[in-house]
This record gives sequence, structure tokens and C-alpha cells, in this order.
Amino acid sequence: MKFFKILILFVTINFNLNAQNQSSLNKNKQEDITFTIKNVNIIPMTEDNKVIEKATVVIHNKKILSINDSIPVNATIIDGTDKWLIPGLIDMHVHNLADVRMSSNYPTKGATLFMDNQDFMLLYVANGVTTTFELSGRVEHFGQRNEIINGKVIGPRIALAYLVDGGESGNTANTPNDGRQTVRLAKQQGYEFIKVYSNLNAETYKAIIDEASIQKMKVIGHIPTIFKGNTKDAFVPHFGMVAHAEEFSSQTDKYTDEVAKEFAKLAKDNGTWVTPNLSNLVYIAKQARSLDSVKNLSSFKYVHPLMQSKWIVSNQYNKGTSPKRVAYFDSLIDFHIKLVKEFKNAGVPMVAGTDSGTSGIVWGFSLHDELKLLVDAGLTTNEVLISATRLPAEWLEIDDKIGTVEKGKFADLILLDENPLKNINNTKKIAGVFVNGKWVSREQLDNMLSVLAKENDLKKDDFDWNKRGEY
Ligand SMILES: [Zn+2]
Repeated sequence: MKFFKILILFVTINFNLNAQNQSSLNKNKQEDITFTIKNVNIIPMTEDNKVIEKATVVIHNKKILSINDSIPVNATIIDGTDKWLIPGLIDMHVHNLADVRMSSNYPTKGATLFMDNQDFMLLYVANGVTTTFELSGRVEHFGQRNEIINGKVIGPRIALAYLVDGGESGNTANTPNDGRQTVRLAKQQGYEFIKVYSNLNAETYKAIIDEASIQKMKVIGHIPTIFKGNTKDAFVPHFGMVAHAEEFSSQTDKYTDEVAKEFAKLAKDNGTWVTPNLSNLVYIAKQARSLDSVKNLSSFKYVHPLMQSKWIVSNQYNKGTSPKRVAYFDSLIDFHIKLVKEFKNAGVPMVAGTDSGTSGIVWGFSLHDELKLLVDAGLTTNEVLISATRLPAEWLEIDDKIGTVEKGKFADLILLDENPLKNINNTKKIAGVFVNGKWVSREQLDNMLSVLAKENDLKKDDFDWNKRGEY
């Protein structure tokens, strides 16, 4: 027990001293430490999901070594009495902050804004989010991911999708040949998934998906606007996942149960899964009503000061707002709930995703809001937990590694004070998190969060979205 206390102190100090202390953080990879959680109730999230009461879980070398087996000598004990152990959560729709160039270029210039990767990833860790799906991958995200993998930063697993759009700006392809070549290049560069976007023309969209199938890359994305009126044509083989419920509402002007049912059938028949992303529109509607909804977020103080500035001074949802626009957003919210009900009835697999990084949607914290909204839309707490653990792991094809609490899986785990099957809000009552076998206690999380809030407050005056071109 004494050793455990020293360890906690050691880890806490490391996090607080941040970058200067990277070398000692490296030494503390916890790899040789064996943890034992005693007397804990496991919600394994396996198919039958039978709760294992008062269990003993041993964690060693990043993995779950055993459940209800002997306790190794010298194990660091974590008391799980009256607590609940679930798999780490997966957010299937994020946009991570990483180093970026905000001003004009010259050769050798590089980024002009640098992100502290640990400060950023803390937002996920503090919320038990241990896997994320980055849906606008860029080269900096590979570096960000490597820092986590090599142990310099504690953060979630990150799957990377390369976004392809039509039109003129950004990563674009406007002919089938260009679309295919873009997919092949993304594959060579190391991206694992392709994201299709709104402005693709029909032929290029289909060519991209076909090439992705040849390259064995799964496809997630928007339903291009061009398919409005012929939504069925967008559901081609190998279109793996729709990234927002909003993609369906953009395809119709009739927000009825019948239309929702038709869309659900399209997805079901094509084997396409859906990330409902209900929280996105809920936050957008709030921002269209008032910017106070952003300023008053309890998690706002943890957001990088430049993003704090952007979400206030350049808020696209609040700019030019009107009661008519607010009513429109509200009608979308209602339709998205209908969609979720019909997806459920039709048996379309749904996974949890937030679109975090969009204004007002805070990384990590927002996933708990999404889970609550899915329950409100008619899913059971069990179905919602599946949507944020086992199912997304399956879609990402890493379900042999994560997504359930089972012997041999990586130790991505959340220790909760109360049972989330009883009330989904209990996913927020986090006593500690295992991220790839590294234990971070509530006390450590609180310390790190309070340091981050203070740092952000001190840096606030240095960041103004309107002056970003000067960086
Ligand atoms: Zn997005």
C-alpha cells in the first residue's frame, strides 16, 4: 500500500510538471506493475453481458491477465468494493487538435500553433474515453498518435480516416480517376479509413467507395448532397457507416416517421451502420439560441484558449441566428430521434460519436451527453453502452483487442462509483481509468484538470481567433 501511494505521488508530479518532466514520465510507464482490482462488479459488455459480481481483475503488461484467478504477489491493489468496471468508451466521431499552421507559408516554416498533446488528451482520459476515431485525419495526427503509443503521453487509441470531398478547397476529388488515386495515396500514407464528404459528385463518390473496397479500407461519411431525392443511390456496397443522423435529414424535407423508416431500411439492406451523433444538433440549437450555452459549459475552462476564442468570436451557429433558424434546428432534433427509433426497429447497428471539436462540443466530456441523448431517444442503457464499447470496436475491427472486459484484452477500463446500467449518467462517476494498462486515479485526474484550467486561464490573453493569421 505504501508503494501505491508513492506511485500516485510520482505520477501526479509528473503530470503537473508536464513537458519539462517528459523523461521521468517515460520512466514511469507502469509496465512492470501488476494491478489487482478487488471485489469489483464487472459489466463485461460481452454478448450475454452477465454482470460478474465481486470479482478480482488482474492487469499486467497492458492487458487483462485474469478474472477471478489468483492474486499475484506484489500486485498493487485497487479496492473495487461497491464499484463497477466497464470497458473504456469509444468516441466514433472526433476532430482532434494538433499542431497546425495558421498563417501563410514559406518553405521550412512548419506549424505556427503548437498543441500540448498531454493537455489535450487529458480531456479524453478524464472522461474514460480510451479510443477515438479521427474523421479529418492529417499528417500531424500520426505524430500525435505516436506520442501516445511510445508512452510520452497518456491518451486514447486513435483510428484515422482520410477525408475526401468534391469542389475546390481542401482534399478534393472531382473525377472517378482522381477519387481512386486519392484513396490509393491515403492508403500508402497510412490512413486506415476513408471519409466521404458532402460535395462529392455521384460518380466520384462511387469510385472512391469501390477503390476503398479494393484497398480494404472501410468507408464512413456524409451522404453527398447530390443524392437528395435519390438517397437510395448513395447506398452502394461497402458504404460502411453514416457519420451523422443529420445526413439523413439533409436528404429530405419531410421529417415523418415514414421517411425515417425508409431511411432505416436503406441502411439495413446495405449493411451500413450509423453514428447518430444526436448531441451535435442539440449543441448547435443551443448555440443558435445563445452563446451563453458555450460560455457556461462546465468543461469550457479545459478547452484550448484559441478554441475558446473561436467558439465565441466566430460562432457560425450563432452568427445571423433567428427564431426561424432555431425552430429549424429543433425540427431536425425531433427527426433525429425518430430516426434512432427506426434504426433500432430495423436492427441497424448504431455507435456513439460526438463530432467533438465542432464549436461547443468538448472532447471527451461530450460523449457522456451523447450517451444520455441516446437513452432519451429510446435505447436501453445496455444498448447505449454497447454503442460506445463492443460495437464500435467491431466496426473498427479491433474487437479482438478492446471493447469488452475479458481476459487477454487490452486494459482499457473505467472504474465507476455507480452502476451505469441503472442510470446512464453514472458513466460520469469515474473513480479511475485504465488507459492501455496505465492506471489514472480520480485524484490524479482532478489534479491534472485543475492545473490545465489554471494554465488555460493564464494563457487566455495570448490567443485571439481574429489574430490567428499573425501566429
Ligand atoms: Zn465531423
